[in-house]
Amino acid sequence: MLKDAPLAPIRLLPPQLADQIAAGEVIERPASVLKELIENALDAGASRIDIDLQKGGMELIRVSDDGHGIPADELTLAISRHATSKLASLEDLLNLHSLGFRGEALASICSVSQWEIASRAGGQGQAFRLTQQWPAKLLEANHARGTTVTIHNLFGTTPARRKFLRTERTELRYCDDVIRRMALARFEVGFYVRHNGRFVHRLPAVRDDIGRTRRVAKLCGEAFIRHALVIDYAHKDLCLRGWISNLLYSRQQTDLQFFYINGRIIRDRVINHAIRLAYQSVLPTGRHAAFVLNLELDPAQVDVNVHPTKHEVRFREARNIHDFISVSYTHLRAHETVLDLVCRLLLE
Ligand code: ADP
Ligand code: MG
Repeated sequence: MLKDAPLAPIRLLPPQLADQIAAGEVIERPASVLKELIENALDAGASRIDIDLQKGGMELIRVSDDGHGIPADELTLAISRHATSKLASLEDLLNLHSLGFRGEALASICSVSQWEIASRAGGQGQAFRLTQQWPAKLLEANHARGTTVTIHNLFGTTPARRKFLRTERTELRYCDDVIRRMALARFEVGFYVRHNGRFVHRLPAVRDDIGRTRRVAKLCGEAFIRHALVIDYAHKDLCLRGWISNLLYSRQQTDLQFFYINGRIIRDRVINHAIRLAYQSVLPTGRHAAFVLNLELDPAQVDVNVHPTKHEVRFREARNIHDFISVSYTHLRAHETVLDLVCRLLLE
C-alpha cells in the first residue's frame, strides 16, 4: 500500500467478486473447466460422458452425463461456493472416495462465464434447468437422467484473463490432454468428444483386458502398447496396475506418463523420480519412459487436499510420532513398490 494512499475501510467482498478471485486458483483455461466438469460427471456415477467443444473450449464447453443428476431444489445450491454433496465432516476429508470435495468448481466456473445447467435427478419425473439470470430462475427442461453443464464464452466477464488464452489449437491440445487423462483412468466410462461439431474421440465403455488395451492404444498410440509391459501387482494393501514401456520404447518428452492414485491423476515428484531413476541406467539420456499406472491404496493414506487443482497429494501426515512413522512407512513403501517393480521388470 502506498504511504499516502487513503485507507479504505475493511469490507466483505461481494460474493461474485469473491468467486471470481477463487476462480483464479482453479480455472486457468478451458481445459481446467473441462477437468472439473468431467470430475463431477464421474463422481455422479456416469457411464457415458458426451463432450462438445468449440474453438478449443473458449467459445463452448458442454459436458453431458447420465449420472445420478441434481435434484431441482439443489440446483441453485450446486453453483454456490462451498456447497458440496461429497463431504460433510472433516473425517470425510480424510477418507475421500470422490474426485471433488471442495464445493467450489461450479461457483468459480459460473463466475467467469455464461452458463446453463440442466439436470434430472434419478427418481424425478421432470428435468429442470438453471440459467444465468438474475435472479436465477428454475425452468422446466427436457433431459434424460443426468446432467448437462454448458459453458459459453469463458472469461467473457473477465477480459483481462481472457487475454491469457492461447490459440484455438493450443487450447484444444490442453483439453485433449485432460480427456486422455480421464479416459485412461476410467475405462468403464464411455467418452464421446466433438470439437467444432466433429468427433475427435469415440471411446466406448470397456470392461475387459482387450477393451482396455484397445483404449490405451487409441490414446497412447499403437507403438506404446506394442512395447508395453502389463503390470498387475499387489502387495499388502497396495496395488499397482497398468502399462509401462519396455526398453525398446522411449520418448523424447514426458508426454506419455500417466500416474494415478485411486483413479486421480497426480503429479508426484517422488514417484516420477523413482521411475526416472529406475530407467536411468537403461535409457539413453534425454529419453523418457512411458506409462499408464494406477496405484490403489486406502484413501485414508493420502491427502488430496493439498492444492486447489487437486493434482498434488501428500501421503498422510500424522499428528503424533506413531502416526508419523506408520505413515512414512506407507509412503516409502508406495514409492518402493514402484521402483522395485520397475527395476525387476527391466532386469527380466
Ligand atoms: P464438488 O465437486 O467439489 O462437490 P462442484 O462445485 O464441482 O463441487 O459441484 C457442487 C455440487 O454439485 C456437487 O457436490 C454435486 O452434488 C453437484 N454436481 C455438480 N455436477 C454434477 C453432475 N454432473 N451430476 C450430479 N451432481 C453434480
Ligand atoms: Mg466438482
